[in-house]
Amino acid sequence: MENILVIDDSRAQAEYLRSILKTDYDVSICQTGEEGLRLAKTGQFSLIFLDIIMPEMDGFTLLKKLQETIMTKYIPVILISGLSDVQHEEKGLTLGAVDYITKPFSPITIKARANTHIKLFHYQMYFMQQAMVDQLTGIANRRRYKDESMMKWREAGRLGLPFSVCIFDIDKFKLYNDSFGHPAGDKVIAAVAKTASSYLQRATDFLARYGGEEFVAIVIGNDAKSAFEFFQTIRQAVEDLHIPHNSPVSEWVTISIGGVTLIPQSSDVYDDYLKIADNMLYEAKEQGRNRVVWSDGKGEQWREK
Ligand code: GH3
Ligand code: MG
Ligand code: MG
Repeated sequence: MENILVIDDSRAQAEYLRSILKTDYDVSICQTGEEGLRLAKTGQFSLIFLDIIMPEMDGFTLLKKLQETIMTKYIPVILISGLSDVQHEEKGLTLGAVDYITKPFSPITIKARANTHIKLFHYQMYFMQQAMVDQLTGIANRRRYKDESMMKWREAGRLGLPFSVCIFDIDKFKLYNDSFGHPAGDKVIAAVAKTASSYLQRATDFLARYGGEEFVAIVIGNDAKSAFEFFQTIRQAVEDLHIPHNSPVSEWVTISIGGVTLIPQSSDVYDDYLKIADNMLYEAKEQGRNRVVWSDGKGEQWREK
């Protein structure tokens, strides 16, 4: 069952709303803005009913906070007020509330609006998620990568942890398409994504389709040598899929990987290191493909084979 949160300093009022909604929804109630914010951040609610007039934190202040918090900004908020003052309604809707209900209200109206806003919330979540996913492989697309890479970069910098980014690219893939056809090529791209993602399972790992037959991966916490070794395992796993190819590199489909590991300092710029990873990929290609080349960002390099 969907979860709805009711935030109202009047317990009687909150209980009344719950009695209206409880046949269709799980309704949690709380009586202060602080508690409401804490509960909303748990991420379990699909809709919030929020009273405007409350002591300490009022509904408008809480609404603003909900809008500013990444975990809560998309949860629809319906404001409830005894005030029929049009300025309050304007203010609430301008601040981002999806709806405004004035007391006294009819139970049927409450139910109908709850149903509508929960349905819209799920559509929105679905489309937002779709907009971040690569359709062919099901992994993150480049748009999501842009947000995620910055978040991970900052997180590693803040925690003082090694940050690794690598780019990998299917070897002689134009030739693969020419030999086996574009639809078969698509299947190879999906298989490579699936294999790589099966290794990138930690909460801090990230994999995205960067472009055509290129992927980008991020791991946090491994030093350069261990990241280099970890990605050799992935490179080998792709080779071990034994997808036939008639390239000069191998009888199987293979990938080349270029990466870099560093502990980000405040003066470091992400794009400079992505460029290093790209240069390492170029070297892997130059040296014969189907290999990993890694840098520590300062000039030391690890080369497979
Ligand atoms: P290299 O080993 O240097 O990477 O050689 P390559 O042939 O893989 O590199 P190149 O960049 O010349 O060619 C990439 C090919 O990838 C060309 C393009 O047709 C193919 N490609 C890109 N995106 C897709 C896709 O979504 N599906 C399929 N089937 N092929 C794609
Ligand atoms: Mg390629
Ligand atoms: Mg390419």
